[in-house]
Amino acid sequence: MAKQEFKAESKRLLEMMINSIYTQREIFLRELISNASDAIDKMYYKALVDEEIVFNKEDYFIKVTADKANRTLTISDTGMGMTQEELENNLGVIAKSGSLAFKKDNEAKDGHNIIGQFGVGFYSAFMVADVVTVISKALGSDEAFKWESEGADGYTIVPCEKDTVGTEIILTIKENTEDDQYDEYLEEYRLKSIIKKYSDFIKFPIKMDAKGQRPIEGSEDELEEVIEEETINSMVPIWRKNKNELTVEDYDNFYAEKRYGFDKPIKHIHISADGAVVYNAILFIPENTPFDYYTKEYEKGLELYSNGVLIMDKCSDLLPDFFSFVKGMVDSEDLSLNISREMLQHDRQLTLIAKNIKNKIKSQLQSLLKDEREKYEQFFNSFGRQLKFGVYNEYGMNKDLLQDLLMFHSSKEKKLVTLDEYVARMPEDQKYIYYASGDSMERIDRLPQTEIVTDKGYEILYFTDDIDEFAIKMIMSYKEKEFRSVSSGDLGIEADENDKPTEAEENDNKELFEAMKGVLTDKVTNVKASKRLKSHPVCLSSEGELTIEMEKILMGMAN
Ligand code: ADP
Ligand code: MG
Repeated sequence: MAKQEFKAESKRLLEMMINSIYTQREIFLRELISNASDAIDKMYYKALVDEEIVFNKEDYFIKVTADKANRTLTISDTGMGMTQEELENNLGVIAKSGSLAFKKDNEAKDGHNIIGQFGVGFYSAFMVADVVTVISKALGSDEAFKWESEGADGYTIVPCEKDTVGTEIILTIKENTEDDQYDEYLEEYRLKSIIKKYSDFIKFPIKMDAKGQRPIEGSEDELEEVIEEETINSMVPIWRKNKNELTVEDYDNFYAEKRYGFDKPIKHIHISADGAVVYNAILFIPENTPFDYYTKEYEKGLELYSNGVLIMDKCSDLLPDFFSFVKGMVDSEDLSLNISREMLQHDRQLTLIAKNIKNKIKSQLQSLLKDEREKYEQFFNSFGRQLKFGVYNEYGMNKDLLQDLLMFHSSKEKKLVTLDEYVARMPEDQKYIYYASGDSMERIDRLPQTEIVTDKGYEILYFTDDIDEFAIKMIMSYKEKEFRSVSSGDLGIEADENDKPTEAEENDNKELFEAMKGVLTDKVTNVKASKRLKSHPVCLSSEGELTIEMEKILMGMAN
């Protein structure tokens, strides 16, 4: 038997598509605007090879018009338009993309600004519309055609009138039902915000009529209502602009406009990568800790754009947890999108971008530390804790990346120091990096154990954060200097050896020690004489890996 072709039940297929591909209804507008932009882009490419066509940028735009009375929403463009045949092929065949074909035919001319590729986006209109009407006149044609469909039942095409080349998509918006609201897609403010959200960086102007008021001519204070055309999108994305032309203020404005935060960023990072993977990114280090930052509610992630169209609000794969405070966006032409363009196939490109970004953030933080100490300290006060968690988590996998970014308060001047600075100014005879854990610097200063160390002129790092000691245990040593808690048994301070309590001293007090041990049975394992104490009569110390502070934290977690 001859090979048979698969037949698809196209009605069912369309229904499935309409209802299951997209998670958010509002993206229908993104899809229709992207198509309009593609259609204008095609004009532009045609003009490149055809001298007859003049591409005057001002003549090309997309217009969105809502008509509440008739419940219609119209998206019109001044693009290439479609012939009767094209209407049939591109809108009548599911998963057929005229734009993909155009890109392939024009490969040499670099058609990669064109957004379409799957041939399904158009049908998303049926998520919000009962009827979709397309009126189109193709470039170089005298006739216009009207394509119309109510969804699953198929479509009709008839000749019609249209003066100018281009396409008009008219959606008859569904009525509200008990469960579903559609009226919002006729509201000016709602449409504007959807356009801003997904299509802000479409290269051509997206216009809407806005009702405004202006004084009636010749009168003092009487106002009349006027309708003015307004361009909604910003068009040229800041990340495509030349860094040299941008000021700190431009970046700050972008940060505020995008509502990345209500503070001012401490630093922006503008990346235009042109290597193994091509992408642009603008990242920000915020100034303040978001109120929910150290809670489960906080969601990390960067905005992800493909060719200037928003694909994802918060792409978490782009940021490691230890840099979860970073805000911003990434735009790339190289992404493999899935069919809904809501998600990505987890692919090499994304992994490469993420890695690239991680290293960039690290090096930028390092230069902030080097060149703008005050700002770095401010940053560290806001997000340093997250870096320390980063050192500790994943079995210390990231400690090499992060250890140079850490800071601790030190007994010298009570200022923040990095590990590098600490080690650099260690006296020659100092063997270890000393630290002491406690609730606050004042409390640590009162620890009897600190005296012998500070008397030697050694610096002590204050560990006042729960995570500090756990993180340091992961690092173990820095520049070949081991970390040592001031309450550990062996401090490596030379006097120690000669100063060991004599046997006589131990024996003389044996009974007293035994009696004390008896009273403190479940509190201590041993009581012994020590030469470590200077002005204090007694101190607690620990043996083995865990310090007393760590034990406290672990006990606290267990309870
Ligand atoms: P895609 O954009 O992924 O190709 P769509 O389903 O969104 O898929 O659109 C299908 C095709 O219909 C497009 O590839 C394009 O050829 C054509 N098309 C859609 N909208 C327009 C438009 N406004 N002007 C010209 N052609 C369009
Ligand atoms: Mg499309």
